[in-house]
Amino acid sequence: VTDTTGTDTATAPRAQHVPENLPTRIQHFIGGRFVDSVNGATFDVLDPVSNQTYATAAAGQKEDIDLAVAAATDAFVNGPWPRMKPRERSRILNRIADAVEAQDARLAELESFDTGLPITQALGQAKRAAENFRFFADLIVAQTDDTYQVPGSQINYVFRKPVGVAGLITPWNTPFMLESWKLAPALASGCTVVLKPAEFTPLSASLWAEIFATAGLPDGVFNLVNGLGEEAGDALVKHPDVPLISFTGETTTGQTIYRNCAANLKGMSMELGGKSPAVVFADADLEAALDSTLFGVFSLNGERCTASSRILVERPIYDDFCARYAARAKNIVVGDPHDPKTEVGALVHPEHYAKVMSYVEIGKSEGRLLAGGGRPENLPEGNYVSPTVFADVAPTARIFQEEIFGPVVAITPFDTDEEALNLANGVKYGLAAYIWTSNLTRAHTFAQSIEAGMVWLNSHNVRDLRTPFGGVKASGLGHEGGYRSIDFYTEQQAVHVTLGPVHTARFGAH
Ligand code: NAD
Repeated sequence: VTDTTGTDTATAPRAQHVPENLPTRIQHFIGGRFVDSVNGATFDVLDPVSNQTYATAAAGQKEDIDLAVAAATDAFVNGPWPRMKPRERSRILNRIADAVEAQDARLAELESFDTGLPITQALGQAKRAAENFRFFADLIVAQTDDTYQVPGSQINYVFRKPVGVAGLITPWNTPFMLESWKLAPALASGCTVVLKPAEFTPLSASLWAEIFATAGLPDGVFNLVNGLGEEAGDALVKHPDVPLISFTGETTTGQTIYRNCAANLKGMSMELGGKSPAVVFADADLEAALDSTLFGVFSLNGERCTASSRILVERPIYDDFCARYAARAKNIVVGDPHDPKTEVGALVHPEHYAKVMSYVEIGKSEGRLLAGGGRPENLPEGNYVSPTVFADVAPTARIFQEEIFGPVVAITPFDTDEEALNLANGVKYGLAAYIWTSNLTRAHTFAQSIEAGMVWLNSHNVRDLRTPFGGVKASGLGHEGGYRSIDFYTEQQAVHVTLGPVHTARFGAH
C-alpha cells in the first residue's frame, strides 16, 4: 500500500535506536523471584520498527498462574501488607513514585522501543504513572471511613478490608501507565496482585517488579505472569482464589471475561473500546478545535481508547474545517519513535498494523480520502501508517462504527443539534466525547444528552485523578479513579454497636 497524499514531511528512515541493556529474556515474577514457565514455554517479542524478535518472554500457563495466585494468597493471609497502617503503605507507594520519576527517561526509552510510541509521548506516560502512585499514596492516608453516631446510644461504622488477591489484566497501549492505573489503587488498598500484561508488550511489567523490589514492597505482594490471553489470562480469570478482576482491553475480550467471572460471582471492572466523537459547532474556537481533534486521534499513534476518531462538524464550517484538518494531518511527522521530533511512531505489532491498514482500504470506498491512506513512501519497513483522514463518512460506514485504534479519522457533517446528537450516540460505544462550541448552554445541554462516560467541553483529555474514568454502553462497566478505585479493591463491612439498652423485642420473655 502506498500513500498518495502527502508523505514529504515524514522523517527519513535511520538506523534503529536500541536501548542499552535491553532485556532479551522476559520472565514471570512470582513470590519475589524472576522465574520461567514451569513447562519452559516462551513466545517471541517483536519491536515495531524492525519487526524482529528482540526478546523471548515466558509463556504462562495454568500452573504458572496457580503458583502466582498461591504466592499472592500467602502474602495476603500471612504477610504484613494488608495489615500495615495506611501511612506505612503510603510511604512505600511514594518510594515507588520516586523511583519511577528518577528513571523516567530510561522507562520511556524502553516503552517507546517496545510499543513504537514516540519517545516524548512515552515520557509523558511515565510521568503520569508516577503521579498515579503518588495520588493513591496520598488518598489512603487522607481517607476517613464513615462513622455514624447516635450520641450515647449507637455507633455505626464502615470497616474497609482489602478484597484479597486482585487479578489485573492489561492491554498493550501505553502499558506502563495503564498498569500503574491498576497497580497503584490495588496496592494502596492492601490487596496483593497477579498482573497479566499484554503479550505484544511484556517489557514494562518486569520493570515494575524491579522498581517494587527496590522500594521495599514485601515479596509476594506483586506477582507477574506473562503469556497469552487465552492461556494465562483465562486461567487468572477462572482461578477460584482470585475474587476480583480489573480488565482493560477490547470489548469482545471483556464479554468473554464477564461470562467467565460470572461462574464465581467475581467483582469486575471493565475499561473497554471506544469510538469517541468530537462535535465541532460553527461557533467554536476553530483553531483550538483543530489542535485538539488532531491531537485526540493522532497522539499515541491513535492507539488510544479515548481517541476522537469521529469528528462531527457543523455544515457552515465543514469545508474549511476539512481542508485545514487535512493540511495539518499531512504535516504530521511520522517516523522513528526514538526521534524527539516524531509525532506518530510505529504501530505496536504487524498484526495490528494489518488490521489498521485493512480499515484504511475499507475507508477508501466509504469516504473521501483527504490525507494519508497508507504507508509513508520513505518508510518501507516497520509498522508505519500515514495519518489518514476520510471526509463525508456516512454513519453506516464501518470506519464510522468500528474501533480502528490507529491514526485514522472519519469526518461527517451535520446540520442541526439533534442530528449531531444522533450521530454522536449512533454507535455501540460510549467512552468519551468532546464538544466544541462557544455557547455554554448548548455545551452543557449536549453533555448531558450524550452517551459517554467522560465528556470534555472545549478541552481534551485533561483529567484530575480524583474524577471517575470509565465508559458506558460497550465501552465498559464500572468506574475507576479517586476513591472509586479504592471502593473497587476493598470490601465495605457495616459494623453496628449499641451502647445503651438493647431495643429488641424480647421474644419468649413473656
Ligand atoms: P485485548 O482485549 O486483545 O487484550 C487485553 C488483555 O486481555 C491482554 O492482556 C490479553 O492477553 C488479555 N486477554 C485476551 N483474551 C483473554 C481471555 N480470554 N481471558 C483473559 N484475558 C484475555 O486488547 P488489546 O488489543 O490489548 O488492547 C486494545 C483495546 O483496549 C482497545 O479496544 C482499546 O480501546 C482498549 N482500551 C480501553 C481503555 C479504557 O480505559 N477504556 C484503555 C486502553 C485500552
